[in-house]
Amino acid sequence: MSHFVNPQRYDSMQYTRCGRSGIQLPKISLGLWHNFGDVTLYENSREMIRTAFDAGITHFDLANNYGPPPGSAEINFGRILKQDFQHYRDEMIISSKAGYTMWPGPYGDFGSKKYLVSSLDQSLKRIGLDYVDIFYHHRPDPDTPLEETMSALDLIVRQGKALYVGLSNYPADQAKEAIRILNSLGTPCLIHQPKYSMFERWIENGLQDVLQEEGVGSIAFSPLAGGLLTDRYLSGIPEGSRIASDSPFLTSDQLTEARVTQIRQLNEIAQRRGQKLVQMALAWVLREGKVTSALIGASKVSQIEDAVATLNNLEFSQQELNEIEAILSR
Ligand code: NDP
Repeated sequence: MSHFVNPQRYDSMQYTRCGRSGIQLPKISLGLWHNFGDVTLYENSREMIRTAFDAGITHFDLANNYGPPPGSAEINFGRILKQDFQHYRDEMIISSKAGYTMWPGPYGDFGSKKYLVSSLDQSLKRIGLDYVDIFYHHRPDPDTPLEETMSALDLIVRQGKALYVGLSNYPADQAKEAIRILNSLGTPCLIHQPKYSMFERWIENGLQDVLQEEGVGSIAFSPLAGGLLTDRYLSGIPEGSRIASDSPFLTSDQLTEARVTQIRQLNEIAQRRGQKLVQMALAWVLREGKVTSALIGASKVSQIEDAVATLNNLEFSQQELNEIEAILSR
């Protein structure tokens, strides 16, 4: 049966303007990196998209390689769109990316025009769309001239295959240059997608200033550090968690004793605030308004509900911020 969409879906979500653009993004966005591939129960993935959209999450983030196997998250998302959201495409911001290894040989990786254009063509076929809203270059390419990669993004917009373009994982100096080139081509950079959380703060050393100066938005990926900044690992490694899975991206060696101590101390502050740790971690990423949206992942519906409830308390006292800094510096 197709889904009856919640008519109140815009009542409680908050939206933030993305840099100096016409686009507003929900403060919480949903990424499909894990738990939307063919190894996951389709009905669970479908239920998570339904829950998200019903809560006002209008932005869904994909990449060519999300799965496993690579490409399957786009196929499954396309199937969900067709089954449940046929009439809602225009209420969604759907993104995809290319930049990591996708197919064998010299044309299925990094940042050539050949790779970006053909990869997006493949993504559009998999999702079943005429265009994506945002197309990203997924990571910097040390060998392809930045002019070529940026002109590929510009071409893709002119072809009508993407409405906006973004950069991901670009350090401050390369982001600045890429933004300059895109401006000169007449296709401004909408957004940068960096990793950012209490445990990963590199963007505070330069990148955030560049984005602010240039009027480019930002969407923080892995704001929960893959699940570390939740109550998931407060007492061990539970079955079904990312660490317990065979994902190479979060492994038990990252759960050091010092880390667990930090997580417990942060959890105490969250409890004092009347929040779950996941909610405090997301509110922290969104503090000061420098980040447009927090891009979460989820393995179950309740995790999306937890994330959305962050909006009930986004404020921090100076004392809370100081306490958090003290814990993070230990
Ligand atoms: P998060 O840091 O939000 O981690 C998500 C994981 O945390 C979930 O899968 C779940 O793991 C756990 N979790 C979430 N909510 C809760 C909760 N309420 N209670 C307990 N555990 C919870 O983000 P991801 O690392 O998943 O990345 C998010 C998105 O960012 C991706 O889907 C992708 O779109 C994007 N991304 C982009 C990259 C890039 O290079 N541009 C790289 C990586 C991600 P569990 O399985 O344990 O339940």
